[in-house]
Formats: sequence, structure tokens, C-alpha cells
Amino acid sequence: MENIIEEANRCLNCKNKPCQKGCPLGNDIPSFIRQVKDGNLEEAFKVLTETTVLGAICGRVCPHSKQCMGNCVRGIKSKPINIGELETYVFDNAIEQDFKIEKNNKLAGKKVAVIGGGPSGLTCAAFLSINGAKVTIYEKQPKLGGITMYGIPDFRLPREVIEKTVEKILDLGVEAKCNQELGKDYELDDITEKYDAVYLSFGANVSSKMNIPGEDLDGVFGGNELLEKGNHPDYTGKSVAVSGGGNVAMDSARTIKRLGAKNVYVVYRRAREQMPAEDYEVEEAMKEGVEFLFQNNIVKILGNDKVEKIECIKTELVKKEGEKRLVPVNIENSNYTIDMDYVVMAVGSKADKELVAKTGLETTEYGNIKVDEKYMTSKKGVFAGGDLIGTKATVAWAARSGRNASEEIAKYLLGE
Ligand code: SF4
Repeated sequence: MENIIEEANRCLNCKNKPCQKGCPLGNDIPSFIRQVKDGNLEEAFKVLTETTVLGAICGRVCPHSKQCMGNCVRGIKSKPINIGELETYVFDNAIEQDFKIEKNNKLAGKKVAVIGGGPSGLTCAAFLSINGAKVTIYEKQPKLGGITMYGIPDFRLPREVIEKTVEKILDLGVEAKCNQELGKDYELDDITEKYDAVYLSFGANVSSKMNIPGEDLDGVFGGNELLEKGNHPDYTGKSVAVSGGGNVAMDSARTIKRLGAKNVYVVYRRAREQMPAEDYEVEEAMKEGVEFLFQNNIVKILGNDKVEKIECIKTELVKKEGEKRLVPVNIENSNYTIDMDYVVMAVGSKADKELVAKTGLETTEYGNIKVDEKYMTSKKGVFAGGDLIGTKATVAWAARSGRNASEEIAKYLLGE
């Protein structure tokens, strides 16, 4: 606690709140830190729960250096305030002390179904419930949490933290129906008949492909599916290449190394500074023995039936008109091969096409569910958010989408 107060005391309580602007959820960071400084942890929790119910999770897994902490004024001359640690502390303490979130009756008598219990669904359900609606979450997995429970490894986010966060949300009166899969156990129409509104938030967890030769060979996996299902092969003595530079690439590489692979290479076509993953994650991965091939790209996977080698090419980064970031361009004749046993694709993810088709709703050209500015889909009363509508794939952005949608659903239910 002393360290926490000490850290909170470093905060300058900036008037224009740049940290808040950097937070996808718009958390009032200076205000909650001020309460921490004064030792009012319940009040600090109250400030944060105006905008988030996932503080124990976001405090741990957000890419803070690219969000709130990346905007902290203290960071210009020295270290930014450790906002993630303070948020984690406030939420962990609130869970331990069983601080309650105040509810109101604005939506009393209204019934809402949320399909998908990940960060977006949980947040939408929580805020609707805070406003008095009766919310039921339908989840295909045995437990709620979505990507946080079935995508982020335990070494980065302990299961206990997710379980306690979920418990706190259920405490608001939210009901959970787990092991319930859309299109198998029920249809969207069954649900729309029973509820006043429906929120779809079943995510976009199908790994994208690189569309390179050899991608269909045995031994090529999607990073998202590998982390979600945990059906790893025996990596003992094996070499594994992970293509990508985001969280899924880092989590896959570190998990595989921990499972005993001899060599794990992260192949990333840009430079280290451009990786979407947090710097500390890259450092941790390096310490654990993961090797990084920056400015390299896999162009071919070679093998008869299964992966035997990968062919890579080196890249250079060039400025291109109209592009914000430097663009990686292959360097001619720089190809080389490395012996490999498995390849993991972690170059992005998309919505499950079949599942989306089962909803019968209109989609975008990228295969996401199409919504209007009020998060409503092509069917009246059916809303969607999070990764499913193409929101930036981070926990905090998904949660923001869920909270925004909850506000629109509330207006719809009240006929506003
Ligand atoms: Fe405090 Fe940093 Fe936010 Fe300023 S920018 S209010 S110092 S956390």
C-alpha cells in the first residue's frame, strides 16, 4: 500500500487529463488517483466503475504504454505514473472488500440477452444491469470471460482474477447460461422473441491467414485457436515459427516455449519499435528464450505432408505516401530457409463466417456484422459490438464498445 500511495503521490493531477484521453474507456484517471492519494479506495473504485467493470483485468493486460501511460505527462522527463498497477490495486481491493456498485431502476422490467460473455458482452451486461435491466448472458464456453479466459495465458492474467471479475458482474444480478452455442443450442430468433433487446458480442477469434504457399500443411496452426482450445502438440525438441507481432503472437510464442519447444522464432516483418505488443512482453519473451526475427517475413512453408521448413525474406522499411507507418518491402534475393516443425499464424483475426451467417444479419465487406451509429444491426432491437463489428482487438476497446452499446440499448428500451 505504501508503494501505491507513493506512486499516486507522483501524479500531477493535470487539468487537461491526457492520460484519460489515451484510455479507450475514458477512465477518469486523475480523479481516481486523487482518491487513492487520500486513502479513499472505495471512492476510487466508485470513480472507476463509472466507466469500467474490468479494472482488475485491464489494469493487468492493457498495452498501457500505448494508451493511458503513453500519454502521462510524468513520462516526458521520467517514468509515467504506473496507472495500470494503481487500477489493479483499486479493483483487487474492491473485490476483496466486496465494495458494491450502486444500481438504479431506470430499466426496471426490461429484459436483455447478451450473446457472448467476453469483455464486450460482460461490460454491456454489467452497465445494463446497473441501470436495472434483467440481463442474461449466453456463452458457448463453460465459463464466462471470452478471450480473457480462453485466449490470454494464465502467466499474464491469472484465472482467479477473471473469475472474481465475473463474479462481481454476476453479483449485479446478471444471469449466465454457459455451454450454450448460437446456431446449435438455440437460434437468434428464439432469443429475440423472449427479450426486449439482444446484444451480440461473440467476438472474432478465427485466425487470419497469410495466403502463402504451404499454409495448409499439417503443423500450421492459427494462434487464436491454439490459445483458445489449448490443443498443443508435443513440442519437445521441436522448432516453431510464430508469424506476427501482436499479443496473440507473444502469448503463443511464450506459451509454446514454456511447453518445451527447443526453438521458438517470432517472425515479424517490421521493426521491434513497431510491434503492437508491449515492450515488456517482448523483453519477457526474450528472457524466456524466444528468438525474434525482426524485418523478416515468411513467404513459403515447405514440406511434403507436414511442415519441414519455412522460407523467409528480409524486409526494409520505407516511407510511402499516404501511409502513416513505415511500410515493409521485401529485399530482393534475400530469401533463406530454416528447418521448422510447426508454424503459428498470429497475423490478425476475423469473425466466424458460418456463425455470422447463422444470424441472418447484414455484414460488412470484411465479414463483420454491420451496425449503424447506434450499434443496431439490420434487425430492430438486435445490437452488436466488440470485435464482431471490427472494433480494435484489445480488451479495453471491446469493453468500450460494450459500454457504448449499453447506452444505446438503454435509449432504445426507453423509446428515446
Ligand atoms: Fe497524473 Fe500522468 Fe494523468 Fe497527469 S497525465 S493526471 S501525471 S496520470
